[in-house]
Amino acid sequence: MDYVVRSPMNRPDVAEVRYDCECGCKPRARYERGSDEPAHEQCCCGRIHFVGTDALQQLEAFVQQERPGETYSLSVQQVTAPWGDEIPVAFGLPQEPHHH
Ligand SMILES: [Zn+2]
Ligand SMILES: [Zn+2]
Repeated sequence: MDYVVRSPMNRPDVAEVRYDCECGCKPRARYERGSDEPAHEQCCCGRIHFVGTDALQQLEAFVQQERPGETYSLSVQQVTAPWGDEIPVAFGLPQEPHHH
């Protein structure tokens, strides 16, 4: 997955992580540097990404709670935050895409 990582204007301690989704949306999640809580965004097509601390574990818990009965394949990769640290980005892909 190709992510674009940048800081919003005048917010150097925020990492905005977005990607170009196949459905045409550009889901973006904003993670604040040092936060214990990952940021996340759900796309209309069912894809979900989590950015920051414990991203994969939090995504897993989220899918179990919010998408019961659905099968997701989960993956995680590191991206470089604007402040130079590596931060995890977890991605959840539903087996059945959502339609809208
Ligand atoms: Zn969409
Ligand atoms: Zn989408």
